[in-house]
Amino acid sequence: MRKLGLDPKNIKYLLVSHAHGDHIGGAEMLQTRYRPRVVMGGPDWDLVEKYPNRYKTMAPKRDIVAADGMKVTLGDAAVTIWLTPGHTPGTLSYTFTVLDRGKPLNVAYSGGTAFNFVNNTPDPGIRNFQTYIESQQRFAARAAATGATVLLSNHSEFDNAVDKNRVLAGRGDGPHPYELGADPVQRYFKVMQSCARAAQLRLEQQRVETAKH
Ligand SMILES: [Zn+2]
Repeated sequence: MRKLGLDPKNIKYLLVSHAHGDHIGGAEMLQTRYRPRVVMGGPDWDLVEKYPNRYKTMAPKRDIVAADGMKVTLGDAAVTIWLTPGHTPGTLSYTFTVLDRGKPLNVAYSGGTAFNFVNNTPDPGIRNFQTYIESQQRFAARAAATGATVLLSNHSEFDNAVDKNRVLAGRGDGPHPYELGADPVQRYFKVMQSCARAAQLRLEQQRVETAKH
């Protein structure tokens, strides 16, 4: 942050998309040092309290529990939080507006893409995939309603951030490489739903096979 001319003392809010180590890792340190408000989904606050050993050095103290549609406002900028359980029970996704050379762009930020919940047994895998699919459907509708033309993910391999950052230097007068258009943003959600449904079907078949024997 300092390298970019930002002072961590000015952090007002920390939005934690979900309580996996690679996303919550610095939250405790930032909370202790700079006292920002910390926002996380209720079930993920519970996870942190339930497994103190797993979060030994990265458990922020329970602060703001995110609600669906909650707005976090700073000056004239706001991030709207959406509950998208699936990746973890408390995963949060966001919609917000950024300015690209003064032009407003609407962003959909997906807080958890991968299927690293229990996904290899019909129970609870089928249910877990259903939760995931329904969240993707709901968030896709939010993204469409806000006119999102940018899709951000919390891992660079899911939104090709590294390639896009390289393209940025040579954009000239062209569009920002993160600006995909509304249809490709919706396609991301369709692909994620289709992949989840395919994996869910496999578990449904497995359940039928098991019942036969
Ligand atoms: Zn994760």
